[in-house]
Amino acid sequence: MATILAAVLILAVLHHHLPPAEAVTSICSSNGRNYTEGSSYAVNLGRVIDSLPTKASSSPSLFATATVGAGANQTVYAIGLCRGDLVAYTCLVCLRSGLSDAKLDCPLAMDVSIDVADTCHLRFSNLDFVASTNNSVQQAFFSTYYPTVASSVAGRFNALVAQLLQATADYAASGSSERRFATGEMVVDEDTSQLGGLIPNIFATAQCTPDLTPAQCGACLAGAMAEMPRQVFPRNSSGASFVGERCGLRFATYSFYNGNAMVQLHARPQGKKTATTTVLITVFAILAELLALSLVGFWVWKKKSSQRKAPLFINVEDVENFESIFIGLSILRSATNNFDEKNKLGEGGFGAVYKGALPDGQEIAVKRLYQSTKQGLGQMKNELAMMVKLQHKNLVRIIGVCLEDGEHMLVYEYMPNKSLDTIIFDPDRSVHLDWGSRFRIINGIARGLQYLHEHSQMTIVHRDLKASNVLLDADMKPKISDFGLAKIFTDDQTRKATSLIIGTLGYMSPEYALRGHYTTKLDVFSFGILVLEIVTGRRNNYAVNTEDLFSLVWKHWVEGTIAELSDPGLGRHYPRGEVLKCINIGLLCVQQNPTDRPSMSTVVVMLGSDTISLEAPYRPAYVLNRSRSYIDTTELVKEPLCSEPQSSITELEPR
Ligand code: AMP
Repeated sequence: MATILAAVLILAVLHHHLPPAEAVTSICSSNGRNYTEGSSYAVNLGRVIDSLPTKASSSPSLFATATVGAGANQTVYAIGLCRGDLVAYTCLVCLRSGLSDAKLDCPLAMDVSIDVADTCHLRFSNLDFVASTNNSVQQAFFSTYYPTVASSVAGRFNALVAQLLQATADYAASGSSERRFATGEMVVDEDTSQLGGLIPNIFATAQCTPDLTPAQCGACLAGAMAEMPRQVFPRNSSGASFVGERCGLRFATYSFYNGNAMVQLHARPQGKKTATTTVLITVFAILAELLALSLVGFWVWKKKSSQRKAPLFINVEDVENFESIFIGLSILRSATNNFDEKNKLGEGGFGAVYKGALPDGQEIAVKRLYQSTKQGLGQMKNELAMMVKLQHKNLVRIIGVCLEDGEHMLVYEYMPNKSLDTIIFDPDRSVHLDWGSRFRIINGIARGLQYLHEHSQMTIVHRDLKASNVLLDADMKPKISDFGLAKIFTDDQTRKATSLIIGTLGYMSPEYALRGHYTTKLDVFSFGILVLEIVTGRRNNYAVNTEDLFSLVWKHWVEGTIAELSDPGLGRHYPRGEVLKCINIGLLCVQQNPTDRPSMSTVVVMLGSDTISLEAPYRPAYVLNRSRSYIDTTELVKEPLCSEPQSSITELEPR
């Protein structure tokens, strides 16, 4: 009985802990030297801070080095490396936040190593470490999210970890991947409850800087492995990171990387035949997946040709009263004059939108999906299932759906003033949007989100709130649209995590962009950006040579010159107090820590009250405490793991 209880307890601890929160570890000034403000070193470091995150995140290997300046103690040497399973944007966010924190943690230190949440690694120094392949400044990190393994099974656990790390390291060094990165999983089928504890599955990563040759990478990882028995295993920890300048290892009892394991091992019951058996290399997995996909595709095609009018891609159980919202193709053809170009309202990632009118005169907007977008179909199904259950004056209403002759269309109420971005970022149109209208739009979006988060039957996180997803009706009332990425939370959930990180550049909160964690506070963050955009008329798009919106607003807020930032389109006459209040609320919403951000109910109260005193915001997420950082968005959307739609980011995992 005691054994079973112990086993259950250990399982509970090991299986139910959450992935670690973001943690930034900076190792300051290993050579003990400081620089002074305004010195050549400071200027050169500024250049590195401006360029390194962009350079590394836009490189296919997610790695970059920099040597800036000349002369002893004036030259800055730096490297930046992101975990090999990230996409460019996540990498950029990670490197920027690392540098930002390094400046706070190690003010004026010349030599700093930074590890951000095991997700990216940076070092800058006055010493030329870039040319060397030495794995210097290596250190083991343990977090409170790694509970201790029961001592009775720790020996076996550590042995399995060593096997897994070795296989994963071998694969990373084998040269199969340009990123010198591998992921591994040990599937544990053994029952060790007799020993007083169960061992869960174990996950691992191994990575070298991609400029190392396979042999150098192998040697570096072997050196790291050799440190494990001394620095890591005696702790009996269920997870650890071993980070060095040139290579690193990590393991944990939960999956912390994106995609499937590249190397999979099985621990079979001891006494029979033990340990490692299969090494599944990704190629086989991909081939199997491709074969499965083609079979499914063939089946769908067969079914489609024999059953032309059936709604093949919609799960009828998801949609109540499905028949009542089904609109015939012939009706939509005549409503849109056969999808005449003249009726085109716009184009999104998955299809074009046309204006039309139903036989009863009702004006509609028809989203016609491109024929071949699989992701688009998934999002359409999601949107449909959500929208039929939601009704609020600040959410766009879905009128119907059409699935005939290979066409996939969603029919919405028509919004004559199109999307908010077409007005606020257009100097000619924005002059017609006075403060009163802007304030009503901000209020309307807040109420729509509040309904999604707190007042509908479910808690829904939209996940892609942005100016182009806010549509305006004839009276300029805002309605939130595009629920293709929205997710439902059940009662007992407060946070979810995904390795499929989809959203739009500039609107993603750091915890989502870096770790895939999402709560309603992700939408609050996007709402904050939107408010700042509406007030300033500036897009938060990280454009090249443009100071990003966070940094700009924060700089003016701190200096007390925020009024200078209001959109010139507002003219001279607007209630300054209300504008300031909105900026304050916007800044509260984009704070780094999700728990510091207000709920949408609080935002609605703050917007509606003239007497409530607002808290002072903390420095927003992403703002470097020194000047600016740049990113070329054209580089980002070329990211190989990104497919459709244009400005959204996708990591590996089916929906
Ligand atoms: P989307 O694919 O949802 O991003 O839509 C592309 C563009 O079509 C939007 O940016 C709008 O300008 C326009 N649009 C979408 N839905 C509507 C609608 N219900 N009424 C009017 N215009 C719309």
